[in-house]
Amino acid sequence: MITEFSEQNFLEFTRENEWGADIQVEQQLANGVTMQIWDSGVVVFTPATETHAFDLVLSCAVHGDETAPIEICDELIESIRSGELTLNSRVLFLIANPAAINIGKRFVEENMNRLFSGAHSKGEGLVNRERVRAKAIEGYVRQFFSTAPAGERQRLHYDMHTAIRDSKHEKFAVYPYTNGAPYKKQQLQLLQLLDVPVVLLHDGPTTTFSYFSVNEFGADAFTLELGKVKPFGENDMQRFAKTKQQLTRLLTVGPMVDGELQADALQIYKVQRSINRNHENFRLHFPDNVANFTPFNKGDVLATDGEEPVHANIDGEAVIFPNANVAIGQRALLTVMPIPAEQLPLV
Ligand SMILES: [Zn+2]
Repeated sequence: MITEFSEQNFLEFTRENEWGADIQVEQQLANGVTMQIWDSGVVVFTPATETHAFDLVLSCAVHGDETAPIEICDELIESIRSGELTLNSRVLFLIANPAAINIGKRFVEENMNRLFSGAHSKGEGLVNRERVRAKAIEGYVRQFFSTAPAGERQRLHYDMHTAIRDSKHEKFAVYPYTNGAPYKKQQLQLLQLLDVPVVLLHDGPTTTFSYFSVNEFGADAFTLELGKVKPFGENDMQRFAKTKQQLTRLLTVGPMVDGELQADALQIYKVQRSINRNHENFRLHFPDNVANFTPFNKGDVLATDGEEPVHANIDGEAVIFPNANVAIGQRALLTVMPIPAEQLPLV
């Protein structure tokens, strides 16, 4: 078992141990920060003293080819290790699927973002390594929250992605189902600071990573879509500068916001419906490269499922995450509608 960590780079170590490592490290850095490594891709930093009772989870590479968030996490991890970033918040970094990073693919055998909240062990069970890894990751998040100092604490999880296709909104957040709780002004303000002014509200439980943190730990958690998928080294990091700056602020200062929520600067969408592929012959009636949030008119044919056309029900119904090649029974696209921010139940 590895008990000391002095490698140059944590991401590199993670990629060399793509399905996990036999490692248990607890080391104090020169500035008093404690670094714990629980697995490849799993590192916790605890400041010597904290300014807020705050636990932050930053995850990337749930989809292995979504490189920009991996580069952001790599930079943050290394600047904490070097002491360049003065840490005041307790943080867990998760590099979820290093094997998929190594082959430059979304996943190796199965889409990991459909495997949380126990879905990894349902159906045929733990039959592939992504399922095993998803289960292990759930355990690390549990361990992180349960080993926090006692008392009332704020829990925040950003699961960071980039989208496969173009989007009418370059950056947007998915606000997972809150189990009926009102949405939080503070969280919407934090999203605006992250350079994410577009929020899609989910209306039911899912097997995504972010909903797992909401549902099991009462965390505020979001799936962040931060732009379009690009290979390593080809991301224009300027486009992520504000996002990275705000993540740095969360780590150094904490989750406070100034002033009131400017609701008119937000664009909110709600899920209209989920369209599943139910037949072998399923096709979409728009080009492969259609941008996320492209609106359609009532009556437009969105897809054909077997012999049945699927129409837009309402003017402005917009498509998001379309993928005709999903397994039968799975979601082929979502449709969404804009709603006025004033209509949101907010606290
Ligand atoms: Zn993704």
